[in-house]
Amino acid sequence: MLIISRKTDIKQSNKLSILQWVRNSGETTQPEISKELGLSRPTVSALVEELILEGYIKVSGMGSSTDQGGKRPKLIAFHARGGGILALYFTVNTIKAALMDLSANLLHELRVSITPKDTTETMLAKVKDLAGALLLKAKELGIPVKGIGVGCPGLVETSTGTILTSTHLEVLNGCSLGESLSSAFHLPVWVDNECRNQVLAEKMFGEGQDVDTFVSLMTDVGIGAGIIIDNRIMRGKDDSFGEIGHTTIQMDGLKCRCGNDGCWEMYASSNSLMSRIHENLSRTLLLKDMVQTRDELTFELIGEAIRRGDDVVYQLAIEDLGKYLGIGIANLVNSINPELIIIHGEMIHLGERLITEIEKQIQQRALPVPKERVRVIFSKLGPKANLIGSCALVLKELFDNPELLFQVNL
Ligand SMILES: [Zn+2]
Repeated sequence: MLIISRKTDIKQSNKLSILQWVRNSGETTQPEISKELGLSRPTVSALVEELILEGYIKVSGMGSSTDQGGKRPKLIAFHARGGGILALYFTVNTIKAALMDLSANLLHELRVSITPKDTTETMLAKVKDLAGALLLKAKELGIPVKGIGVGCPGLVETSTGTILTSTHLEVLNGCSLGESLSSAFHLPVWVDNECRNQVLAEKMFGEGQDVDTFVSLMTDVGIGAGIIIDNRIMRGKDDSFGEIGHTTIQMDGLKCRCGNDGCWEMYASSNSLMSRIHENLSRTLLLKDMVQTRDELTFELIGEAIRRGDDVVYQLAIEDLGKYLGIGIANLVNSINPELIIIHGEMIHLGERLITEIEKQIQQRALPVPKERVRVIFSKLGPKANLIGSCALVLKELFDNPELLFQVNL
């Protein structure tokens, strides 16, 4: 355990306050920092100097002099490229990896396929190869990497970075990913459930920035939720909070991979919609020909068929899916009283009509007070939301722990 003297502690805390202020201000000056944070000018000057040397802030120009005249102060700004983060993320068939800067801007991206032949060992080797290649890229760009963040499906023991169980990627069960990466690269590593990383991404960079209590809902192979209540991310006793996809909405319903019957994700996930569309493809009006021409069935194509007036697809992908999604979301609205529900995943291609259908269900089923409050929207973070999430995980930990932020400089 790192022992920090009280003097260092106060200094680091002041330094972090200055960095946070600069990060949130766009551009500022040392006199402004001194006034806003109540720190003496010499203290601000010394700490700004250190932050410039460490690469976290930069001089971005010259400000205007005060009414009393005098020297024009230097403008200073956050230097996002003063550090890099390795962000990794697993889908059921791909490992995605990116080098990102301290504002989660993408600098370089790599990916590798997961095959049915993969074992835990080959998966670890693939992850290490990706991380190694990105570290080389960071070196080439002259960016010091501050940490590695990983987003995984399933239950993660966050204290050790071990993936305990992953229903949709069983090869990762028991994989001590965090320890393996930190011993290979001598960097701090954080591993967490992908949905929790996504909600952090929304809090730091997305639609949740000014919202205290909200849900980030992932609809993909399964359904999971990242939940922030009163600005605190919810984890539960065993990091299992938010496994909302496995709540029962149909007694004696379809068998789920978790072993239960009638789980919500068997009816409202992207995968479940794809299965229903496949089963009913022959009776669709336009989609069957579109699929034949393009030789694939995608959410973009389903969205296009809806826009062009395929009523069968509309029934399946808007009315039926909206009902299933809306029922589960109404349960969430009743149980946690969120201000906002942000939907992630391919369903964004189905358009606002899906949101309208979900809202109908909320109006029908949720209680008067919470349903009045809640808004439902699609995420605006785009296809990189999960990588931004893995990056956000590291940024949160670094900015919560100044001893890590100011000492890791590899
Ligand atoms: Zn289940």
